[in-house]
Amino acid sequence: MTQSWEESLTEDEERLLQPFVTNGERSVFGLRNLPEVIKGALFSRYSRSDKSLRRLLLDEFIQAPEADFRGIVGSLETRNGAFESNSEQLLAIQRAIAFYDRVLIGYGDDSVAELGGAHIACEGISNIAAKIIEDSRLGISPLEKSTRYVPFDRQVNGRYRYYREPSIVASSHAGRYESTLDNLFDTYTSLYEPLLSWVKANSPPDPNVSERAYNSAVKAKTLDLLRGLLPMATLTNVGLFGNGRAFEYLLVKLAASPHEEVRSLGQMMQQELDLMIPSFVKRAKSDRGLAAARYLATNCDRTHQLAQKIVETRHGEFLQSGSESTATVQLVEYADNAELKVVAAILYPQTDLPLTQIEKYVIDLSAAERQEIINTYVGDRESRFHRPGRAFEATYYTFDILADLGAYRDLHRHRVLTQERQRYSVRHGYIVPQEIEAANLDLPYRQALDDAAATFESIARTLPEAAQYVVPLAYRTRWRIQLNLREVYHLVELRSSRQGHPSYRFVAQEIYRQINAVHPMLVANMKFVDLNDYDLERLAAEQRIDIKLQQSERK
Ligand SMILES: Cc1cc2nc3c(=O)[nH]c(=O)nc-3n(C[C@H](O)[C@H](O)[C@H](O)COP(=O)(O)OP(=O)(O)OC[C@H]3O[C@@H](n4cnc5c(N)ncnc54)[C@H](O)[C@@H]3O)c2cc1C
Repeated sequence: MTQSWEESLTEDEERLLQPFVTNGERSVFGLRNLPEVIKGALFSRYSRSDKSLRRLLLDEFIQAPEADFRGIVGSLETRNGAFESNSEQLLAIQRAIAFYDRVLIGYGDDSVAELGGAHIACEGISNIAAKIIEDSRLGISPLEKSTRYVPFDRQVNGRYRYYREPSIVASSHAGRYESTLDNLFDTYTSLYEPLLSWVKANSPPDPNVSERAYNSAVKAKTLDLLRGLLPMATLTNVGLFGNGRAFEYLLVKLAASPHEEVRSLGQMMQQELDLMIPSFVKRAKSDRGLAAARYLATNCDRTHQLAQKIVETRHGEFLQSGSESTATVQLVEYADNAELKVVAAILYPQTDLPLTQIEKYVIDLSAAERQEIINTYVGDRESRFHRPGRAFEATYYTFDILADLGAYRDLHRHRVLTQERQRYSVRHGYIVPQEIEAANLDLPYRQALDDAAATFESIARTLPEAAQYVVPLAYRTRWRIQLNLREVYHLVELRSSRQGHPSYRFVAQEIYRQINAVHPMLVANMKFVDLNDYDLERLAAEQRIDIKLQQSERK
């Protein structure tokens, strides 16, 4: 028990609290069976009170009539401790909203709104919308239906599942849009079996590998190869867990989108969040929220117009000088004194000196001494989960990446860095996986992609934002990644690992190679970067699943 800690509850009080706390007597305990709004309000009171959390819960919520606590958690008493949420509960929350809002006033809405969270499912949204949701970094954790494990060939009522963009459908492009996207999905569907056979023929089963693991690995490989045909309009499902503050910002961003789909998705999310964490997301639809959305939209639009004007006047000169880079991964910026910064940051918390003085001291150290400090700090890494500490955040790298949209979608999921993409287009050409060429299936693959490019160009003349829905994942896109050395270790080691898709494995490997060329000392401890190529990327991971399955059967 912690020193000088006490909780004085009567037996009756303990009984009342029992369903809502994981223990009634220890100094560390959890909250359970409480709606988000109560947890948020409770913690906000906690910060301005001398009472214990259990005492606050009793005095200011359970026994405060205006909190309608009984209405909100009423079903508990009849269900013997097993909590069941029901529509009565939602109604009670609505009735008690004024009470909670009063509790929350004066606590700084922003931090309080981080104390409650919600799970939301967004189903049947396009990849355009999914990427906008996944642009979120702090406070939102998304998971998206995988193009590797789920085939996207299913039809509903005879129609492939892609977003029928309203402005295109209302335009003269409607027929061409549908026929192009149908053709992409038809090609995806028709190439599946022949490609699967080719993959099997070229990576025959191994007697040491189970049939389950083998079949999963060849299917994943086939779907990975075909995903380039899927257009950005492809419908997917995204599950999100987030806190109220992050949701509020997300709703504002969705409202600022140029895409009708994204704006209406934001409205639907608001409607559902209003049922779960209303007090935490109400500002998104207030005058302040609407003004923030207008601010984002206006600035984005004006900056786009200005950039267009500048590019239109200057781009010809750039092209003539041959200065447009087509490199897949280009290290654009890094600090010359990165080693010094990192070594100084390592020493800093171990001394009582100002940072500037430590940096002066580090300048005089030899390369061997600096490497020793770095090696000692990183220690013996036994796996990629043994990560270097915050001193590795003392230096940053900026990369310009030009890779297929499939790879972008995967790397985009990293959040502890800055990423910004350009608009999706067909301008940078597409990638044909060498396996599709080797299987002699590249002709229909190319034809479907070329057709998509022509449709894109035609729609983009009048509807440039909406045209992005047509772009298939095989097309290349440009994006900027700015990340610190600590995230470099995480991203490169995770994304170069064997089970990854070859497109993003290549990007991760290049990031490593290019940093290694300028700062070998700083990546010397990146022991788990995998620079090899593999035939069946998923096979080793599937074999590990086999072992786990066997172990769980034995239990
Ligand atoms: C082989 C493979 C298959 C995948 N398949 C899918 C898939 O089918 N569907 C899908 O949606 N995604 C998939 N992903 C993406 C994956 O779920 C992650 O979203 C992505 O790799 C980003 O990684 P990260 O969270 O580790 O990294 P970052 O976001 O860069 O974060 C770095 C580290 O910071 C910490 N961190 C970051 N954010 C949080 C947070 N909110 N809470 C706690 N800690 C945090 C974690 O330690 C994390 O590892 C796949 C990834 C790989 C490598």
